[in-house]
Amino acid sequence: MPHRDNADADAPGKQHCLTYSGLTFLPLHYSTWTAPSGVAVGPSPTLQEWQSWFCQCLGIAPPAMAPYANQICPCHRQRLDTHHLHTCPIHSGNWYCAHEFVLSAVADIAQAAGYRTNRGKRVPTSRGQKRGDLEIVVDLNVAKKRTLIIDVAVVHAFHGKVAHPERHGQLRHPNPDKVLIDTVVAKAQGNEYRPDYLRNHTKAFLPLVMSTSGRLHGEFVRLLYILAHRRAVRFFATLDYEPCYEELCQRRGAFFFQHCARIGLAGAQAAALRM
Ligand SMILES: [Zn+2]
Repeated sequence: MPHRDNADADAPGKQHCLTYSGLTFLPLHYSTWTAPSGVAVGPSPTLQEWQSWFCQCLGIAPPAMAPYANQICPCHRQRLDTHHLHTCPIHSGNWYCAHEFVLSAVADIAQAAGYRTNRGKRVPTSRGQKRGDLEIVVDLNVAKKRTLIIDVAVVHAFHGKVAHPERHGQLRHPNPDKVLIDTVVAKAQGNEYRPDYLRNHTKAFLPLVMSTSGRLHGEFVRLLYILAHRRAVRFFATLDYEPCYEELCQRRGAFFFQHCARIGLAGAQAAALRM
């Protein structure tokens, strides 16, 4: 959250200190973000999904996995457990559904901030005929481009399909944030369509990476904050009211919390869907 005691926090060169907790979405504050119809925005996990997610957090096998206990995965590499389900490509169909949950949450937040979004086949392709997940037509001053191409990934911080059984279930890196950073670097540098988008379509490419344990990469948190600022400005503009600095901070902080909660809940449901 922004440091509210710093009166010059918006001054050029000042960096906000943004933090994010993987369990942000659990407080009831989440339910304060409602659509004009009064219905809470976002998905509602089923009881089984809540159960699966909490069991994963506690490091115990979810009841949904009980029918498959000690069964070998069709890939013949490991027994079926949560770590393997999060990493075995045979189950990538569930990965796609999980990915779409997080993508929908990002699109909802961008639209709430007043930006137009395109996804699926409506996202422009790069010269190599590949396309990102989501296009946000925006003026965020991100690389001075008016259009942002988003690529979302949900990664697992633990080994789940390793050849050495003793490494199964161990952290992929002592610092779990490093797994997020490595994925962002791989997406930003490893795919050929990012520079192509920049050169030929003047579109900025932004990978948004979160982990199955609810961690968000720093750029993901930053985007949620920028969209919260935009939403707060629009909020007061709709009221035709000029807010003081503290009022703007308070409203922006509330929206930032909602955005973190929306993404956290989508991530939890995404992780549960894979089981
Ligand atoms: Zn497998």
